[in-house]
Amino acid sequence: MSERGPSTRAIHAGLPDPVQGEPILPGPVLAAPYHLRGPADAAPYGYGRDQNPTWTHLEHAIGELDGGESVVFSSGMAAVTAVIAPRLRPGDVLVAPRDGYPGIRKLSAEQLVPGGIEVRLVPTDTDAIVAASEGAKIVWVETPSNPKLDECDLDAVIAAAHAHGALVGVDNTVATPLGRRPLDHGADFAMVSGTKSLTGHSDLLMGAVSVRDGALAGELRAWRSHTGALLGPFEAWLAHRSLATLGLRLERSQANARAVAEALGDRDDVSDVRWPGVGPLVALTLSSIAHVERFLDGCTLVTQATSFGGVHSMAERRGRWGTDEVPDGFIRFSAGCEDTADLVADVLQALDASV
Ligand code: PLP
Repeated sequence: MSERGPSTRAIHAGLPDPVQGEPILPGPVLAAPYHLRGPADAAPYGYGRDQNPTWTHLEHAIGELDGGESVVFSSGMAAVTAVIAPRLRPGDVLVAPRDGYPGIRKLSAEQLVPGGIEVRLVPTDTDAIVAASEGAKIVWVETPSNPKLDECDLDAVIAAAHAHGALVGVDNTVATPLGRRPLDHGADFAMVSGTKSLTGHSDLLMGAVSVRDGALAGELRAWRSHTGALLGPFEAWLAHRSLATLGLRLERSQANARAVAEALGDRDDVSDVRWPGVGPLVALTLSSIAHVERFLDGCTLVTQATSFGGVHSMAERRGRWGTDEVPDGFIRFSAGCEDTADLVADVLQALDASV
């Protein structure tokens, strides 16, 4: 299927073979125990913390798009944790982005470092990651990084990390598995927060990790069972239903992101406008906190919220969290699926009124 177009792939991903009289996408299976007579492995589904048929369909879908075998989790952070936590022991080294999503830095500061793990925080820059990877057990990369949208050369960082014997995980949340396939570049783990563009309606949290090594998939499943980092069956079904429109949604949100970036690019009241060419995020900086607040309050189509990748455009002054090294006036803007002319006009009128 991988040679087919993105919407074709997203729409058909993970669907079971047609069964006369049955729905195209089976509904959520809400079960804790399943009927199970005889030995523990007498049926594919025994207990809801270990297996669920609705997960299976969604995992086939994400695995197809990623080019690997996927394991779904209750959130993006549950997926990140499933990769790094069980593999690191005191004395081990984790390389992680200092400019990416702050969750991994908080986990490091509050759990990993006190547990004796060395965490090397490096910018999303090929040379910096390569230099830090010597002696590492895991190299965790986020490209494009959230929120500043920097990129690194995946082939180069993965080759260097592997040469040092490290495993490489790539947070592919911004690009999504339709925008980029980290496993094709040799990554050991391709992770995505499905809370964002993958499902795109701002109505659920989920995460997934795809791998090509069956042993790693088994370890991820075991971690999920042991820790109970489970995706509810209803959310799994809703995610799969929403995945079908990923190609369409990305087409529009990326076109909108590009148009907003172009419209802002030559204004002298906006600086450092960035769109990395993939994903819905645009970064921009205004002169002050008050300027940002006037601008965001003046937008009628842009929701103020701390997420991205939804059908509704949304934005926030990222510095309000105190977790990212960004200027006070830095805005993370997520282009939604509104009509392009309407969105650009709304952003421009709000900027004009905010001076
Ligand atoms: N990775 C990135 C790049 C993110 O932006 C986020 C959330 O914003 C996460 C991971 C964590 O995902 P979740 O909120 O689904 O736990």
